[in-house]
Amino acid sequence: MQNQIDEISLDGGWLCLDFANTVSARKPDRGEEYLQTWDDYVSWVRRLAVIPESEFNNWRTMTPGDMDEVRALREAIFELFDYYVKNGKIHPGHLDTLNGFLHEVYMYTCIKMTENGLQRGIFKKTYVEKPLWLIALSAESLLLSDRLPRVKTCDNCGWLFLDTSKNGTRRWCNMHTCGSQIKAKAWYHRKKEEGNRKENASGSSEATIH
Ligand SMILES: [Zn+2]
Repeated sequence: MQNQIDEISLDGGWLCLDFANTVSARKPDRGEEYLQTWDDYVSWVRRLAVIPESEFNNWRTMTPGDMDEVRALREAIFELFDYYVKNGKIHPGHLDTLNGFLHEVYMYTCIKMTENGLQRGIFKKTYVEKPLWLIALSAESLLLSDRLPRVKTCDNCGWLFLDTSKNGTRRWCNMHTCGSQIKAKAWYHRKKEEGNRKENASGSSEATIH
């Protein structure tokens, strides 16, 4: 599914949200699965540059990990943020899976002096789980940041995105795809209603004549 992975819209604005958006839609039902195989996941990790190119080549030759684990983290991230958007608060039960990953992650992280100053990261050798750990850290950093209230779901497809618009009124993951679809639907319904009103109006005038 290499080509399909390359064509996924990257509208999340945050690593973990783009990860959650690796199914074609979230509403009205869950859409097509983009991460069907480990190779799909490898393509996605490369496209999003989750790990540096220098490490990627080594990582991709490792024994593949468990796709159930990959999808479990993704669904946990989706549920967590989707519930938050709908209810304005985090459901404590939704933190369990993420915390399970973070517990593992923190055994492998350290603070180190880098070219950009002190940073926490997974600096040692490459682990097959490393991209997944970095995604879990991305979810943690978003949850703990003041940007959390800007996480939203697309009115049309249900994808998650970070609203970075000035006034915080963005409603669609992507204006050109979902935005135009919603607008087209709104236009259709408006025209339909106008049509019904005209029909009713002409109906009532007929009633008057007869
Ligand atoms: Zn959308």
